[in-house]
Amino acid sequence: ESAVPIATVNPATGELIEEFTALTKEQVEERLSRAEAAAATLRATDFATRARWMQAAADLVEADAGRTARMLTIEMGKPIAQARAEVLKCAHAMRFYADNAESLLADQPLADPGKVNASAAYTTYAPLGVVLAVMPWNYPMWQVIRFAAPALMAGNVGLLKHASNVPQSAMYLDTLFERAGFPAGSFQSLLIGAAGVESVLRDRRVAAATLTGSEPAGRSVAAVAGSEVKKVVLELGGSDPFIVLPSADVRAAARTAVTARTINNGQSCIAAKRFIVHTDVYDEFVEAFVADTKALTVGDPLDEETDIGPIATKSGRRELVELVEDAVAKGAVLRCGGSAVGTEGWFFEPAVLEEVTPAMRVYGEEAFGPLAVVHRVDSVEQAAELANDTTFGLSSSVWTADPDEERHLIGRLEAGAVFVNGMSVSYPELPFGGVKDSGIGRELAAEGIREFCNLKTVWKR
Ligand code: NAP
Repeated sequence: ESAVPIATVNPATGELIEEFTALTKEQVEERLSRAEAAAATLRATDFATRARWMQAAADLVEADAGRTARMLTIEMGKPIAQARAEVLKCAHAMRFYADNAESLLADQPLADPGKVNASAAYTTYAPLGVVLAVMPWNYPMWQVIRFAAPALMAGNVGLLKHASNVPQSAMYLDTLFERAGFPAGSFQSLLIGAAGVESVLRDRRVAAATLTGSEPAGRSVAAVAGSEVKKVVLELGGSDPFIVLPSADVRAAARTAVTARTINNGQSCIAAKRFIVHTDVYDEFVEAFVADTKALTVGDPLDEETDIGPIATKSGRRELVELVEDAVAKGAVLRCGGSAVGTEGWFFEPAVLEEVTPAMRVYGEEAFGPLAVVHRVDSVEQAAELANDTTFGLSSSVWTADPDEERHLIGRLEAGAVFVNGMSVSYPELPFGGVKDSGIGRELAAEGIREFCNLKTVWKR
């Protein structure tokens, strides 16, 4: 049973749209045995067959795009244009793994270990079986497809425990792959609460787990997986630095900074959250950043003109307001926004804070919404130190035209990615993941698709 109800509540109005009943123990059991059977079937199929099904699933995603985009917006509040972009990105990723899984998982020849005449060795990738995916609400389609497309192409089977506030998205994904031709049970949703995850993960039929979500959820799933000696991939929170140095195109940096902080209503793990700006360009950057932030329209996410919709949950908005209040009480300067707005729904005015010190919560905690912190630094080295002064290490962004600074920061930053003169984005073609408390392992690309494979070493005479 879940603490949070499994329900669709429109964050723009607070209205309950649809409530779902959690699966019973027997229903979970049924789905586990269906998954086990599907794993045996899928393992025996070849890449070409799975690619055909995956392409058909991508066709469905494209055909359904109008309806699903609206569903995402109503479930979690992202602006409709961004919802549409998310859905189409999913189709692109599905086609990418349909086209490339076979080469990403090709056998790799090895050196002859014993120099024994006529012996040969190579590695080959086999699927692990049933993988449990615990997923968040912020990109209800993309987070799931980012796991599912490579996993199914590798011959694995998926069981999705989606966030309790996006059950309509979960139900859409529950039927998608079967509609496209995949064997029944290849990908199923489990409508269960967070408390139901442990027993599923301990089940002998589940081989591994992936979780995208908060750090506490990650720790708890990792602990269970650890005690069961099961493979786990964790994509957790982030507090990404966005470093602007004097040689950068400061105006372009400020413009991108606004998008990097506020895309998806500011609720992205790889959103830039801490803007670390060299003193020589600090004032120029901050003036442009604040002006562009103030110019954003906050409102109905179904309106094509809206830049920022509501925060997905009431508690999420409260958290943001508290972070601002705590910082201001301790001496931070609030340049714009920072409070709850609107008479219904969970809207929050995008905020920019200056003069933030380590005594303030927002210095170290992840701000999951349109709340930016700007820091002033005197040198590249000070920028690197401040950027690394966090428990997180997901991604980072560096703005410079100087190749030495670029090289130095790529080496210095404790993060799973460095984007130079651009914002962090999760692309189907690039590995994605973090270090420190941001997680373990990688999703996407060769590294991601191999995470849920058994790398078999083969030696023969
Ligand atoms: P969350 O509360 O951790 O929820 C994520 C998922 O984990 C949900 O399905 C949730 O189920 C489940 N869950 C929560 N506690 C659990 C537990 N103790 N054991 C097992 N499952 C548990 O996170 P969120 O609020 O939805 O998402 C925001 C967080 O996700 C942020 O920290 C963000 O940075 C992070 N995130 C990271 C990435 C990445 O790729 N690194 C991407 C997106 C988001 P219920 O909904 O039923 O509670």
